[in-house]
Amino acid sequence: MGDVILQTNNIVKNYRHFRALDNVSVTLERGHIYGFIGENGSGKTTLMRILTGLSFPAEGSCSLYGKEGQAEMRALRRRIGSTIEEPALYPDFSVWRNLELQRILVGNPDKSVCDELLKLLDLSDVREKAVKKLSMGMKQRLGIALALVGKPDMLILDEPVNGLDPRNISALRTLLQKLNEEQGITMLISSHILKELYLLATDYIIIHRGKILECLSHEQLAAKCENYVRISTDDLPECVTVLEKELHVLDYKVMDDRTVHVYAFTEEPQRISRALTEHHIVVGELAVQGRSLEDYFFTVTSEV
Ligand code: ADP
Repeated sequence: MGDVILQTNNIVKNYRHFRALDNVSVTLERGHIYGFIGENGSGKTTLMRILTGLSFPAEGSCSLYGKEGQAEMRALRRRIGSTIEEPALYPDFSVWRNLELQRILVGNPDKSVCDELLKLLDLSDVREKAVKKLSMGMKQRLGIALALVGKPDMLILDEPVNGLDPRNISALRTLLQKLNEEQGITMLISSHILKELYLLATDYIIIHRGKILECLSHEQLAAKCENYVRISTDDLPECVTVLEKELHVLDYKVMDDRTVHVYAFTEEPQRISRALTEHHIVVGELAVQGRSLEDYFFTVTSEV
């Protein structure tokens, strides 16, 4: 295992009688970009709040750079930048002044950091603009600039692309990749735009109803997202019987009462087609397709 930055062991968080996190154990290693995936209400923000010290678990423990204990972790959390809630911005103050106040708050003595960040986040043109006059996208970028003021070596970003248009989304991806590659910043990023996460993340953590279902690397996901043969037929039970008995296929998934995905014979789908024809099964569609992160997420969460 690489250099561990952050680890949680069996974290439980309850809101009255509702269990928002159920024995959550995750390990985040230096230099990785973790895509944090889960439906609304699955517990992503709750975990991120615990990791950044905004909330505390009922059970379980957290360690940061190998250290446990709230006092030690409080000091180490300075090395984490985050955008979990709406940043506490002063609406009448300029963009630059907001950044400068944050710089003082986090105790970064480097006075040039604010202008550097304005440039990095393409906010130099609105340096003197009052924050209340910014567009949603600009505010979002300012939030990320605020998270970077303390020169963190880890970023925790909750839905950073919310409210951004496609151009800004792509610019943000480039920026995050650059921060990761050039400064080695580790990231935990939640997003419901899975296509976007697929382009950015090196690893994925899938959470569902407060439980971690899977942690897997981009390579592992790519292997699981291999091609499959999509078959549509009105005679699904017969079709499945042929797949199992004639072609000895075990790796398949029935998607609905007309469709099955087969994770075999992707190089020679004609063998499936031939076998089905021989058994007089009328096929509406038979095509090789790729599984996306979104498909994979739905498969994993629907199995629970
Ligand atoms: P996500 O970020 O994945 O959308 P959250 O972590 O915000 O999910 O929420 C997880 C669950 O905990 C949800 O069902 C939510 O309604 C509940 N929850 C979150 N915060 C509170 C709170 N302060 N009080 C009561 N329930 C909460």
